[in-house]
Amino acid sequence: MKLDVNVLRYLSKDDFRVLTAVEMGMRNHEIVPSELVERIACLKHGGTYKVLKNLLKYKLLHHDSSKYDGFRLTYLGYDFLAIKTLVNRGVFTGVGRQIGVGKESDIFEVAQEDGTILAMKLHRLGRTSFRAVKSKRDYLRHRSSFSWLYLSRLAALKEFAFMKALEEHDFPVPKAIDCNRHCVIMSLVQGYPMVQVKQLQNPETIFEKIIGIVVRLAEHGLIHCDFNEFNIMIDDEEKITMIDFPQMVSVSHRNAQMYFDRDIECIFKFFRKRFNMSFHEDKGESEETEVDENSRPSFFDITKDANALDKDLEASGFTRKEQTDLDKFIEGGVEKSEDSDEDEESDDEEQTCESNEEGNLNEIKSLQLQDKEQKSLDGVEAEVELDNTEN
Ligand code: ADP
Ligand code: MG
Repeated sequence: MKLDVNVLRYLSKDDFRVLTAVEMGMRNHEIVPSELVERIACLKHGGTYKVLKNLLKYKLLHHDSSKYDGFRLTYLGYDFLAIKTLVNRGVFTGVGRQIGVGKESDIFEVAQEDGTILAMKLHRLGRTSFRAVKSKRDYLRHRSSFSWLYLSRLAALKEFAFMKALEEHDFPVPKAIDCNRHCVIMSLVQGYPMVQVKQLQNPETIFEKIIGIVVRLAEHGLIHCDFNEFNIMIDDEEKITMIDFPQMVSVSHRNAQMYFDRDIECIFKFFRKRFNMSFHEDKGESEETEVDENSRPSFFDITKDANALDKDLEASGFTRKEQTDLDKFIEGGVEKSEDSDEDEESDDEEQTCESNEEGNLNEIKSLQLQDKEQKSLDGVEAEVELDNTEN
C-alpha cells in the first residue's frame, strides 16, 4: 500500500473529526452507518457527507452498502490518524521511504526535526492470515472487539511494552520511542536482517551470542516465538539487534517448551545451512566448524523468572485481557492463507471482519451518542489536531 503523506496537508480539521468519528463508531460497528458518523462528528455547520466524500477520494475510508449504507476506516485512514497524532506530539515531522515489509507490518523511516531518522512500524494484523482465520474460526464473528483495528493496536501496544522492558534489561533491541494506535516508533537499526548476510567473520561467536539471547530471555520469563534470521539484525561490526515482538509469550505458556525449542532449532538450522557449521549430531565434513550439540540449551535446565514478564506488562498498561485476545488471534492465525502474496490493494478491500453481522440498522438508529463518548471524541480530536502552522 502506498502511504502518501502529502494528503495530510490537504486534510482539514473537519476531515479529521469525521475520520475520528468513523474510528469511534468502529468500536462497536464493523460498518459505521452514515447517520452515526454524522451524530458522532457533530460538525458545527453540518456537511458530514461532503467530508465523507473527500475522505473516500483519498481512500481513507471504505464505503460499504452491502448490508446498510456505511463506512469503515481503511488501513490508510488508520495510518493517518496515528501519524497525525504522533506528529502533533512532536515525535517526528515527516515520513520517508519504506524500509521493510513484514508479514503483518509495514516499516517506514520517519524524520525528526533535528534530522534524526527513526523507524515507524505500522502493524497490519490480518493482512496475510485474516481470511484463512475468518473462514476457520468463529470467535471472530461473535466478538466485535476482534477487528483488525483492535488487533493491530494490541500488537503495537504489546511490541512497544516489550521493547521498553527488554531494553531496560539490557537486551539488544531498538529503543522504543512512542506508540499510538497500531503504530510503534523506535530507533532505526543499522545493518540488515541476518537472512541477507552471506558471510560472517566469526560465525561461532555470533551463534553463541544469539543462543545466549534466547537463553537469557527465558531466564527473564520470555520466549520470542519468531526468533529467526528475519528478526535478527546485524551491522557491519557484527553487532546483533533483535526485533519483532508481538508474538512473544511467557515461559509459563502451555506450549512454552515447544516455542523455546523451535526458536533454538531455527538458529541451529540457519547456521548449519548458511555458515556451514556442523554440530556433533551431524555427520559433517571435517573442515566444517564444529559446535558441541550437547551445548544445545534445554528449556528445563534454565532457571526462569516467570513473573518478570507479568510485572513489566502490568507496568506498561497492557492488560491481561488484551494479551489473551491477541494471543488467541496469533495462535489461530498460524494457519496462513496460501494467497498471502496477492495484490495488497485488493487485500485491503477485502479485510472485513464479520464481527457485527447481526447488527441491524434499526438497532443502530436507536443508538444515542452518550455524553461520555462526545467528550472522548473531543479529547481525541484535540490530540489529533494538526498545528495550524503545518497547513
Ligand atoms: P514483521 O512483524 O511484519 O515481521 P518486523 O518487525 O520483523 O515486522 O520488520 C520487518 C522488516 O523491517 C525487518 O526484517 C527489517 O528489515 C525492517 N525493520 C524493522 N524494524 C526496524 C528497525 N527498527 N530499524 C531498521 N529496520 C527495521
Ligand atoms: Mg519479522
